[in-house]
Amino acid sequence: MGYSSEQDIIRMCIEKLTDNCGTAVQLTGSRSVGGGCINHALKISTTVGDFFLKWNASAPADMFQKEAAGLIEMALSNSDLVIPRVIWSKENGDSPSLLLMEFLAPPNNTSGFDERLGRGLAQMHRKTAPAFGFHHSNYCGTTVQNNSWTTSWAEFYARRRIWNLVQQIKTTRGISSDDQNIYEKLVERLPKLLSHGEIPSLIHGDLWSGNYMYTSRGPALIDPACYYADREMELGMMKLFGGFSAAVWNAYAEEFPLPEGWKQRIRLYQLYHVLNHYLLFGGSYGWEALEIAKEYL
Ligand code: ADP
Repeated sequence: MGYSSEQDIIRMCIEKLTDNCGTAVQLTGSRSVGGGCINHALKISTTVGDFFLKWNASAPADMFQKEAAGLIEMALSNSDLVIPRVIWSKENGDSPSLLLMEFLAPPNNTSGFDERLGRGLAQMHRKTAPAFGFHHSNYCGTTVQNNSWTTSWAEFYARRRIWNLVQQIKTTRGISSDDQNIYEKLVERLPKLLSHGEIPSLIHGDLWSGNYMYTSRGPALIDPACYYADREMELGMMKLFGGFSAAVWNAYAEEFPLPEGWKQRIRLYQLYHVLNHYLLFGGSYGWEALEIAKEYL
């Protein structure tokens, strides 16, 4: 079988739902959902409820399976946030990789949602692990994140995040030896810069404003790149492009106060995402990343 049409993919999902439910499920409608960056997305309506389906024939084969694992891990934190229930994820093969999950309906009223988002995120960050990392690698955008368990946060951030990206940038875009020296010096300084008693906290990992949704059941997180990290990593991403109100921040800090000096580390943690943007998109992100690195030398 070649790559499937939208109709084929919907039919596969209906068969899956029928298997899961043990009774014949019928499709009652489907419509595209916009707003995503790279994937096809549909709302599919059936006799057993509405579902959200995304698929991609050219993404890394296991991207949606890794996303599904992140959603499941976030749900296990038992925070008050809504995490869509995963129904099915599959790898690229004879048919495109896909992720089928619960459809989250829009809310009638979002009053108090900012506060609930901040509080819920802080609750999720209280889920901890014996080391920094995750059960397997996953993706931030299409960049592979090496999540091998590491007991030192400074070492994890240095080797698995910053240096790993610098090496990928060197291969795909090239880097001058002067610039590489700057990153090398920064990586050497990380144990000094990061010694504020970090503990491994479950983070969403790619929390920009497009990755939370206000739904009929409350604030929800979608599209994660989860791992156990210093939770300030999450805050860095949230501040990189903005989109989180003062009510979110205040509720977060009330629920799980932040260690002294967190604001001074925000740029350092943004460096990972800026380097990743440079790897993925090029342009002025490369210059911005160097400026950040120099601030911490
Ligand atoms: P992509 O991986 O392509 O960026 P997203 O997971 O961010 O896709 O989803 C794209 C859009 O679809 C989101 O901005 C959101 O509006 C909507 N969406 C995502 N998940 C759901 C869901 N479970 N239920 C309803 N709408 C969703």
